[in-house]
Amino acid sequence: MSQFWSDIVHDLTPYVPGEQPKLKDLIKLNTNENPYGPSPKVLEALKAEVGDSLRLYPDPNSDRLKNTIADYHGLSANQVFVGNGSDEVLAHIFQGLFKHLRPLIFPDITYSFYPVYCGLYGIEYEAIPLDRHFEINIHDYDRPNGGIIFPNPNAPTGIPLELTRVEALLQKNRHSVVVVDEAYVDFGTESAVKLINVYPNLLVTQSLSKARSLAGLRVGFALGHPDLIEALTRVKDSFNSYPIDRLAEAGAIAAIEDVDYFDKTCQKVMATRESLIKRLDGMGFVVLPSGGNFIFAKHKAVDGAQLSERLREQKIIVRHFKKPERITPYIRITIGTELQTEQLINALTLILSQ
Ligand SMILES: *Cc1c(COP(=O)(O)O)cnc(C)c1O
Repeated sequence: MSQFWSDIVHDLTPYVPGEQPKLKDLIKLNTNENPYGPSPKVLEALKAEVGDSLRLYPDPNSDRLKNTIADYHGLSANQVFVGNGSDEVLAHIFQGLFKHLRPLIFPDITYSFYPVYCGLYGIEYEAIPLDRHFEINIHDYDRPNGGIIFPNPNAPTGIPLELTRVEALLQKNRHSVVVVDEAYVDFGTESAVKLINVYPNLLVTQSLSKARSLAGLRVGFALGHPDLIEALTRVKDSFNSYPIDRLAEAGAIAAIEDVDYFDKTCQKVMATRESLIKRLDGMGFVVLPSGGNFIFAKHKAVDGAQLSERLREQKIIVRHFKKPERITPYIRITIGTELQTEQLINALTLILSQ
């Protein structure tokens, strides 16, 4: 601990991202990246953008990107906010929309960045336990709050919340901002975007990191009422005027425009997910229902820490969470290619036979 640190820094408990291994020969199923890579049109757009124009600052408002996202979702550009990954968008949401007298509420088992942002921005929160099926029970959210946030599908469980329930939550909480973090929505979960013009208290965040396979480019966005978007813009313009660089903007636009490639790769990931779940079922695993590009599974005989360690010995990395205790039996496995999935099954068969 340093005498030079501010009190806030002393008290921070930073987020710990999944490992990005330096070894190249590992099968990486630990951070929910997309195995199929970005659209070839994205790579072309990036190459075309590399040149002398990089000496100039990018458009601080990312208008072209906002228009592209607005068109894709059938919204207006003033209902779109873009940022350097949805993590940055979320950070601005916490600071701009969640800092109130009443506590923010979110599930106890969820994206672990939420409590970290609360710590950074001094936001009170209450963690609402998932029910015994690891599901969000919306009646548990029937309490005074200064905002609600949850991923849909939830992470790391993968379990989706039906849109009718999302809507019920919006109706009951008209005086709070309800944020639906849709990082994984394109893998078979119903999006709340269609409710945006009905509920001015709804904000939806999405990411180009997962379904569009651009985790390395860092682009995410929020969709909602122009007043909510303006709050985020005010925070952004008090923090960093240029969160989307020229390459990121060009690549993101090409990714969103290439709908065919996006649909095809999402379909492939979902098909692999369903066949993996069937095979794991037959091997003594319990797999939670998943609306994402990952599954959350436990084995009846081998605990999560051991499974993830043994898989690593077989050069396959998955994610294991050491807390809360209720999820320590589980491992989270990103859906890889068909070949990677075959290798995963072979490794698990070996481990379980020993
Ligand atoms: C991956 C993820 C994000 C962050 O995505 P980026 O756009 O890469 O910052 C946000 N929320 C959840 C639930 C995620 O899993």
